[in-house]
Amino acid sequence: MDARIGVLALQGDVSEHIRAFEEALRAAGCNSPVVPVKKPEDLAPLDALAIPGGESTTISRLIEKNGMYQPLSEFEGGIFATCAGMVLMASEADDPRVRTLGRMDMHVARNAFGRQRESHEVRLDVAGLDSPFPAVFIRAPVATRVGSGVQALGAIDRGIVAVRQGKHMAFSFHPELVGDLRLHTLFLKHLGR
Ligand code: GLN
Repeated sequence: MDARIGVLALQGDVSEHIRAFEEALRAAGCNSPVVPVKKPEDLAPLDALAIPGGESTTISRLIEKNGMYQPLSEFEGGIFATCAGMVLMASEADDPRVRTLGRMDMHVARNAFGRQRESHEVRLDVAGLDSPFPAVFIRAPVATRVGSGVQALGAIDRGIVAVRQGKHMAFSFHPELVGDLRLHTLFLKHLGR
């Protein structure tokens, strides 16, 4: 197994993503470092990219500022996106301040749990895993509609919270924070590296 992975490092929980992917790669027998991505040319050598949790309005603004919109919409590797990253992956979001990348055919609502529920954990059934995943939601979005090419991997009463479209996966919650790397491992498997 050999995969070159980067983490979009404009804002958000970048170091947590780097650590989680380095650990998942090591477990798969690959010691390559996971690198921060800030400029268009950083994407060139990569097989995959993580788009972290953070603030999607801020990340969107910084994507524009750094000339990353076009390169990210054309990046050919797999993308693993969490929370704010999931908002950015969508074809549409409910907040016009976020210019989504349109990488997954879905409509996403930001902060879908309301302000009174800043953060909570759910034991979530996810397609492809044989036992529930500890899903930590922090001011999380949900997908309110997904296209026919998008597979819903997990849902709760508010909407869809885990999706896959080809090599891309997106989660409303934060697999990078809980020390359970099964979703990272699944992503690496879909990458086919
Ligand atoms: N509420 C944030 C947003 O929509 C996402 C929060 C997170 O990434 N933990 O941008």
